[in-house]
Amino acid sequence: MPLKKLKIGVSACLLGMKYRYDGTDKLDPRIVERLLNKVDFVPVCPEVECGLAIPRPAMRLERGQGGTRLKVIATGEDETRRMEEWAGVKIEQLLRRGIGAFLFKARSPSCGHGNTSIFDSQGRCIMKTADGLFVRMLRIKCPKMVIGTEDRLEEFIEKLNLDIFRD
Ligand code: SF4
Repeated sequence: MPLKKLKIGVSACLLGMKYRYDGTDKLDPRIVERLLNKVDFVPVCPEVECGLAIPRPAMRLERGQGGTRLKVIATGEDETRRMEEWAGVKIEQLLRRGIGAFLFKARSPSCGHGNTSIFDSQGRCIMKTADGLFVRMLRIKCPKMVIGTEDRLEEFIEKLNLDIFRD
């Protein structure tokens, strides 16, 4: 009987889906080259799946009196609650599907991991090592899950620590 493959959540834009704020993708062919046939991909786009449009205004993480918020840069509209409500449900669904790891798009205000910037209300960058909002929630719920970003793909694969990757 064939072994069950590890299920890996992947930021959908990395797999070629044109879900970014400007309607483009961030296809990274190395992900398919290195991982296809070894894992099952589960594409996830927090911003589109929580109900935001394509295209949509660019957002950033902003720190103010209410903590760190996900805001539309041009208007200051706060999308934090929308994202948090959706993510709470989605993370439970992903865990029920057996997702064992997650590869995210670096530096995104929703998907970045350890490399997303936070700004003050004047637009000054005050930190460059934060997690995106969805990732922050995922890590609270699943602190041991293997999480990486495409700009450190080999490190992510190494962390998976599976024999199937030693070819
Ligand atoms: S929210 Fe994440 S998956 Fe969606 S377009 Fe932005 S970086 Fe890609």
